[in-house]
Amino acid sequence: MKVLVTGGAGYIGSVSVDALIAAGHEVVVFDNLYMGHRAAVNPKAAFVEGDLADKAKVSATFAEHKPQAIMHFASYSLVGESMENPLKYLGDNVTNALNLLNAAVEFGVERFILSSTANLFDEPETLPISETERIVPGSPYGESKAIIERYLFWLQKTKGLRYAALRYFNAAGCTDIKGEDHQPESHLIPLVIQVALGQREKIMIFGDDYDTPDGTCVRDYIHVSDLASAHILAMEALSDNESLHYNLGNGSGFSVKEAIETVREVSGHPIPAEITPRRAGDPASLVGDSSKIRSELGWAPQFADLKSIVESAWKWHVKHPKGYED
Ligand code: UDP
Repeated sequence: MKVLVTGGAGYIGSVSVDALIAAGHEVVVFDNLYMGHRAAVNPKAAFVEGDLADKAKVSATFAEHKPQAIMHFASYSLVGESMENPLKYLGDNVTNALNLLNAAVEFGVERFILSSTANLFDEPETLPISETERIVPGSPYGESKAIIERYLFWLQKTKGLRYAALRYFNAAGCTDIKGEDHQPESHLIPLVIQVALGQREKIMIFGDDYDTPDGTCVRDYIHVSDLASAHILAMEALSDNESLHYNLGNGSGFSVKEAIETVREVSGHPIPAEITPRRAGDPASLVGDSSKIRSELGWAPQFADLKSIVESAWKWHVKHPKGYED
């Protein structure tokens, strides 16, 4: 298929582009390079440097490339930042996405795959979290994804745009050629790796007074290439389905302390840590039940344990201590 990938120069987008190309699809990357990296774009993909706020550029890209499917990764994605600056998330993730949705409808695109999030579930009633859990977003970031999911629901009903909403738990890990390089970095595993590489003195643990076994937040880490394979399976499955909703996680939770300990094990570095107050918007525990996509689409994550995920990240960061600058 011909697939337009917004955010295809970013962390999860660039790995998904590689997977699409390896599976024989034709790819157009649309990215403003604010957070993405030109070097992360697969050379076999067409590249459009553009912003979703630019309605004319979005339309021109659809007119020129005529995509049959859209994978929409481009968005802000930080829970803590969205609690400080909620309108940034309404403006980018919702208002700018409107230009993309308009073009999708105008140009008769058949399939839309949305990067959604486990932050749809602030205080889940049942852990691990299944697709039947009620949606109560934990932050303006989660809310922005909930809004797009709902609009996709209505666009499917009214305009026939088929869609898949993929709710990621915590994306982590690297491939041999693609890694995680956010400026500034705010995610736990790459920050801990920066300590191990001597680029940062210590890691701050945001709160140890949560209702969890060791008091620190529990998360479900899922490898970026397993997320990419889920996108391709979901895109293919839209041939026979009008809409799909899947939670993408490994089904096991690791506390912040356990994640730090895993990086200690993999890197051999002592990694000093300090407890600081909670970060606003962080739910205590998020663990995903992904049995639905496993049974319906045969998705089988290749990196089922945190250690192998951290090892893949450690390998890439040792090779690229300055990220894509190296
Ligand atoms: N975290 C932390 N220190 C950091 C960064 C993150 O304690 O420097 C915690 C954060 O509070 C959350 C977990 O690590 O409980 C994972 O955070 P991350 O930002 O990696 O992903 P999120 O869960 O927000 O998607």
